[in-house]
Amino acid sequence: MQGKNYLMIPGPTPVPPKVVAAMSTPMFGHRTQDFQNLHQEIVAKLQKFFQTKNEIFVLTSSGTGGMESAVANTVNPGDKVLTLVGGKFGERWSELTRAYGAEVIEINFEWGTCVDPQAVKEKLEEHPDIKVVFATQNETSTGVVNDIESIGKIVAQTPALLVVDGVSGVGGIEIKVDEWHVDILTTGSQKSLMLPPGLAIQSISQKAWEKIEDNKSPRYYFDLLKARKSYAKWNTAYTPAVSLFVGLNAALDMMLEEGLDNVYARHKLLRDATRAAIRALGLKLMAEDYYASPVVTSVYAPDGIGADDIRKVLTKEYGITFAGGQAQLKNKIFRIAHMGFAGKMDVLIAISGLEMALARVGYPVELGAGVRAAQQVFLGVQS
Ligand code: PMP
Repeated sequence: MQGKNYLMIPGPTPVPPKVVAAMSTPMFGHRTQDFQNLHQEIVAKLQKFFQTKNEIFVLTSSGTGGMESAVANTVNPGDKVLTLVGGKFGERWSELTRAYGAEVIEINFEWGTCVDPQAVKEKLEEHPDIKVVFATQNETSTGVVNDIESIGKIVAQTPALLVVDGVSGVGGIEIKVDEWHVDILTTGSQKSLMLPPGLAIQSISQKAWEKIEDNKSPRYYFDLLKARKSYAKWNTAYTPAVSLFVGLNAALDMMLEEGLDNVYARHKLLRDATRAAIRALGLKLMAEDYYASPVVTSVYAPDGIGADDIRKVLTKEYGITFAGGQAQLKNKIFRIAHMGFAGKMDVLIAISGLEMALARVGYPVELGAGVRAAQQVFLGVQS
């Protein structure tokens, strides 16, 4: 469609004009005092976000590269690892650890449900030699947020490390790295952090460093020991995405100005309004209330209607892009992101567009019912 477009997928997400402007700053070298100052400033801000005193590495890579870094630096061939799988990104941990020769024990949770921490406890008791547990904070493929705090408490009582994929959640969903015993938290730039794709950010605990120092897996670009040497001088081992670092600093400033609690509360409000609207339209939500993601909502298409048909109408006629379902959820669900640079009016646009698209594909919709339900959540009035 010509004209205005509304990007409502769980990454990449819209980038605020302030961040775009910051990134157009003239290029400067990365072996300079200016870069070192910027790097130091960014890490201090990220430590507030991650709620940690750990070192935080800003890697020039997509989110999956950060995940690979976590695996390559902690997993040797033959090591036993536990992956917690409730969607496509949990599966990615299994694929990655298998690629590095690990003996992978997988706990599968039905897609659309969350990880049961008790099951993690039982598996760790059954296999006390598990070296690393791989979890996902926000399972983007299903719109589910996992209870990292409870998982962290359990893993902390064992020698195992806890590695968490926070690619889509960090920035929109609170995470307390130190208090929740997250040994490696790894995230990406293009989702709740409001940046273009290209950065993977990860924190490393002391417990993790001990395993990393002993690690034998081949690694080069993602060698964290090499990264740590450069980090000591606020450098990076290889050329960083300088412009994205500048953008990250600006994005972090915006979020810190808003206040972290306000950022998290805003995402929850957007989730609640979206869910109220979906229910008012008679559609089925994938996740239960208590583990529904604050940053992305997954919705089943009505019986007999393809989710992708609804999405096609939305894009073609209204310039709105929702994400589709992945793997076995293809054409069954659509996903509405409300992460990062998203506000109340974005939800109202998404829902009003959805109502029209539903009408177009032949679903009996009461126009305005979803919008009204969302407005009522925003106004704090009972429906
Ligand atoms: N983990 C999660 C939870 C994600 O949502 C994504 C991106 N959709 C990734 C990992 C992979 O990130 P990237 O595509 O940047 O490699």
